[in-house]
Amino acid sequence: MFKILARANDLESQGKSILHFELGDPDFPTPGNIVEAACKSLQDGETHYVDSFGLLDLRKAAAESMAKGVRGFSPDLNQVLVTPGGNSQLFYAMACTTNPGEEVIVPDPGFVSYYSIADFFGINAVRVPLYEKNEFRLNPRDVEKAITDKTRMIVINSPSNPTGSIMKEEEIRGIYELAKEHDLFLLSDEVYRRTVYRDADTDFFSPSGLDKCKDRTIVVNAFSKSYAMTGWRIGTLTAPADLTEKMNLLLETNLSCVPPFIQRAGIEALEGSQEPSNQMREELRRRRDTIVDGLNSLPNVSCVKPRGAFYAFPNITETEMSSREFADFMLAEAGVSLAPGPIFGRHGEGFVRFSYATSIENIKEGIQRMDLALRKR
Ligand code: PLP
Repeated sequence: MFKILARANDLESQGKSILHFELGDPDFPTPGNIVEAACKSLQDGETHYVDSFGLLDLRKAAAESMAKGVRGFSPDLNQVLVTPGGNSQLFYAMACTTNPGEEVIVPDPGFVSYYSIADFFGINAVRVPLYEKNEFRLNPRDVEKAITDKTRMIVINSPSNPTGSIMKEEEIRGIYELAKEHDLFLLSDEVYRRTVYRDADTDFFSPSGLDKCKDRTIVVNAFSKSYAMTGWRIGTLTAPADLTEKMNLLLETNLSCVPPFIQRAGIEALEGSQEPSNQMREELRRRRDTIVDGLNSLPNVSCVKPRGAFYAFPNITETEMSSREFADFMLAEAGVSLAPGPIFGRHGEGFVRFSYATSIENIKEGIQRMDLALRKR
């Protein structure tokens, strides 16, 4: 992804106008109250080591927000670990649940780190395809077929990167039952939890309430996307206490702790007004509508309506270009930078991903330019 960005930036530095749709980074500033909380903490001298598990106040705030929200239960504080963002949680979770040579079931197309972290540990990432005809929702029957005696964990991601799909409650319950029957961990990557649009035909559902994260469910949760805090590197993970303890040992060994002033910002994000985050979601919904309508108006392109996150994943097979050819063509001919679907797994071929965390003006201009390029071709 960063290679694509570098290529686009290179063209930009040569004077070409490039519209960026490649990175999943909200273009909103971090809300002011969150920034102020960090500044105050620094001024108060919170510049030293703290408990590697995280500040008690942040772990309490995270537990309370789980109790108040849709997850509907309050985990014990020894189940909650403060980490630098969501990626580190995926890394710790794979490291502490699965040995080299064993298997983790992941959605394909799915977030790239699932594959790369598994690869790094010599874990086999068993890919279960997501189908456009099923609006890219993971199907429990497909998951069941992928389970072997080497499987240790199933990963679900709703709302999903790169497709924006939201799984239905019965699908998540079905996968939870499979995990229970085969005694597997179930990792629920919920970093887009707050970006669920009101017109989604299905509510967000988390498997965490089913076992209160006591037996097998691991909730990956970060502040990056919900509060426009991608550069802050902070998140809270919830898992069975013995697993959280192991992950904490790993975190302590390689990081010591998450900086306390960053954690104060996290507390403010959870306890302060949710209005800025709600407004971001509303703005993203407007952008979603603009980009999906625009993509569906392009010749030979069709796009399923994403229900959450901030990605559109149109089908481009009828253009008779591969995903990479389409991305290269759009960069060269329209100055539109986007991600080819196979970056997110081999089942992403025939699709490309647009991150619409950019202005409505950019979206409209991008659609116009792509329309022109496709019609001239
Ligand atoms: N999980 C998913 C599905 C993501 O899309 C991302 C980031 O793009 C992450 C986890 C990582 O989040 P963070 O930036 O907090 O490390």
